[in-house]
This record gives sequence, C-alpha cells and structure tokens, in this order.
Amino acid sequence: MSECIFCKIIAGEIPCHKVWEDDDHLAFLDINPIREGHTLVIPKVHASYLFDMNDESYQSLLGAAKQIAIRLKEVFQVPRIGMAVEGFAVDHVHVHLVPLTGVGQLDPKQAKPGDHTQLTELAQRIRT
Ligand code: AMP
Ligand code: ZN
Repeated sequence: MSECIFCKIIAGEIPCHKVWEDDDHLAFLDINPIREGHTLVIPKVHASYLFDMNDESYQSLLGAAKQIAIRLKEVFQVPRIGMAVEGFAVDHVHVHLVPLTGVGQLDPKQAKPGDHTQLTELAQRIRT
C-alpha cells in the first residue's frame, strides 16, 4: 500500500471531491482552498517533481489542466484561472488551478480549511 496521500486518493483508499478524470489524470478540489473552486490536477502514476516528468506525461498533464481550467472559468465566471506548482507539502505532482478575479490571489497563505458539504456541492457543480 502506498504512503503517498494522492496515490491513496487515486486507489480509492481515501475520498476526494472529484471534479474530472481520464485514464491518466484526476482532478479534485483542494480541501484547503485559496479561493472557491481551487482544484488540483494530478497524474495517476506517481511522480514527485513536475519538471522531472517525461515530455509525454508532462504535456498530457498540462493538457488535462487546460481542459479543467476552461471548465472552471465557465463555472466561476472569472477573467482568469491561475496555475501554480509547488509541491513542498505533498510529494506527488499536482497542478493548482485557482479561479482569480485580480492580482495577488494565488497566494497559498490565503488557504483555509474548506467546508466538506460545500466542497461536495461545488464538485458536483463543476462536474455537471
Ligand atoms: P503543495 O504541496 O504545497 O503544493 O500543496 C499541497 C496541497 O494539497 C495543499 O493545498 C493541500 O491543501 C492539498 N491537500 C492535501 N491533502 C489533500 C486531500 N486529501 N485532498 C485534497 N487536497 C489536499
Ligand atoms: Zn503518489
């Protein structure tokens, strides 16, 4: 059994607020959103660092992120979806996608624990 929390989510061992998936990627809401709609996009095969991924996996992850960003922009009616990659807390590649209305909003220090009922409703809204 994997020790990686995101591998556990992929394996269905712990739940997530899923918004989208395909054969190779999963997208789910961050449980400590910076802003409403903060979504993580991850590869289903464990990788530690984005820029160590092979070109094919890297490009397909960013392609998945693009599709989800288009959907988030439509749902949240914002001018921009911000994208960030850090990975200091979770050692499984993840792209943060955050609906933005202005500058300075892509700041991890603004993260607050989300309400699970609201996250469930939000994930449903993004999915449909
Ligand atoms: P970082 O590794 O600093 O880029 O951030 C890791 C992100 O993963 C943080 O924004 C956490 O809130 C988020 N996170 C950690 N565990 C979970 C989980 N079980 N479900 C959703 N998001 C998570
Ligand atoms: Zn993993």
